[in-house]
Amino acid sequence: MTRTTNRHHVVIIGAGFGGLFAAKKFKNENVQVTIVDRTNHHLFQPLLYQVATGILSEGEIAPSIRQILADQDNVRVVKGEVRNVDINEQTVTADLGGTDAVLNYDSLILAAGAGQSYFGNEQFAEFAPGMKSVDDALEIRARVTGAFERAEITTDPEARKRLLTFVVVGAGPTGVELAGQLAEMSHRTLRDEFREINTEDTRILLIDGGPQVLAPFGKRLGRKAARRLEDLGVDIVLNSLVTDVSKEGVRYKDMKTEEEHFVPSYAKIWSAGVAASPLGKHVAEQAGIEVDRAGRVPVNDDLTLGEHRNIFIVGDMMSKDRLPGVAQVAMQGGQYAASTILDEVNNGTAPEGRVPFSYFDKGSMAIVSRFNAVVKMNKAEVSGFFGWVMWLVLHLLYMVGFRNRAVAAFSWGLNSVSRRRWQLVATRQQLHARNAIRKLRDLEDKEGIRSIEVRDNLRFGEGRDTRAVSD
Ligand SMILES: Cc1cc2nc3c(=O)[nH]c(=O)nc-3n(C[C@H](O)[C@H](O)[C@H](O)COP(=O)(O)OP(=O)(O)OC[C@H]3O[C@@H](n4cnc5c(N)ncnc54)[C@H](O)[C@@H]3O)c2cc1C
Repeated sequence: MTRTTNRHHVVIIGAGFGGLFAAKKFKNENVQVTIVDRTNHHLFQPLLYQVATGILSEGEIAPSIRQILADQDNVRVVKGEVRNVDINEQTVTADLGGTDAVLNYDSLILAAGAGQSYFGNEQFAEFAPGMKSVDDALEIRARVTGAFERAEITTDPEARKRLLTFVVVGAGPTGVELAGQLAEMSHRTLRDEFREINTEDTRILLIDGGPQVLAPFGKRLGRKAARRLEDLGVDIVLNSLVTDVSKEGVRYKDMKTEEEHFVPSYAKIWSAGVAASPLGKHVAEQAGIEVDRAGRVPVNDDLTLGEHRNIFIVGDMMSKDRLPGVAQVAMQGGQYAASTILDEVNNGTAPEGRVPFSYFDKGSMAIVSRFNAVVKMNKAEVSGFFGWVMWLVLHLLYMVGFRNRAVAAFSWGLNSVSRRRWQLVATRQQLHARNAIRKLRDLEDKEGIRSIEVRDNLRFGEGRDTRAVSD
């Protein structure tokens, strides 16, 4: 599979925020674009926690890539896992599920994002899923709802206490949003649905190694968010490092007192760290560039890789001027890369004349609970109800597709006035599939067989996202 026309061929790896916004910029332009993603959907990651806690369904935050790009004739969508990039031969090799495809490119936009990092403790993943994919969110939903179901039927008070204790590791925006929603679920949504347990007895622990919640938002907003969470009944444990995660619970060490604590818990969720896609290291090594500790690739002012001015690295994979791993950085990076390519294809401008990428910070926001969000826009800080309205408007603006926006607006409206949640389906597959596939892979490795063709990233110890180049 090579090029289909003689036009300048742009290959985009990843249809997340960076890749998709780049692809859209090429609409009606005289270039051929191939966008490769290992999933068939564009995932709106900031709303994953709403899928995990039953507010939205997965389809509402993950529209089909083909559908989004259906009216762009010059864009071809390939569902495949990129395993190799040869920056000298200018080829990308993707596994299409048993068959490899080799794509030649004139320009490459690398936007493969980041996975969860367990800081070298990949074994924690077995008991504490991260939240990076639709699968993760559905597994968390199944674990959370499963905990309440089991608590309802157990007669042992200690077992019940463990089942009704949820631990969220990492008090960044994802951890805060998730803890807030778990509290609302327990104290509001499920209150009258169980007979043997009082869901208001649920304990939610939010653990972080730092001294405050929502560190990127500054002290003031962090304090406000913490206060709101505490009002909702969330126990916040700061300056504490998780030292073990097992089936039984979570062990953490208070770094101030050096004391170790063990919290029995059935449902644990990891939202503490990120590691850039290993494709970053893979291309950086070829260019003689060292990635940073999170695996991000240092890029030039025009977001390119070393001397390879036709390779752009955008979004969570790139390291530049300490820009955060947020959607806006990825979107603006993707759009910049596409505009730069178009300028050169259409006007014959040379790479030496490129205007450097400059990021326009539109601020960050995190929802703490219903009617309460924190927003930081440069020096302006907003919290509470107005923050929530801003959050609502902005998320509706950036969701892809009219239907998804309409359904989300309707669900949020309904969620504001009603206690109910309508997306609480949980299946055994959601609960067990990830670990079952991992065990199957271990068995296959031992016996030297392959029973499933599509290779996966579920081999612990390699990091959840290392499959692309390690297999
Ligand atoms: C739970 C959560 C909440 C967040 N909340 C916010 C928020 O509130 N505000 C905010 O601004 N940001 C938020 N972020 C961060 C934001 O989502 C990311 O910064 C953004 O998605 C990065 O865009 P990207 O294009 O670099 O990568 P992604 O959006 O992650 O896209 C990467 C794409 O590459 C594909 N891919 C990866 N490897 C391969 C491969 N080998 N072959 C083929 N395809 C591949 C993936 O399937 C994916 O589609 C959140 C992130 C998470 C996980």
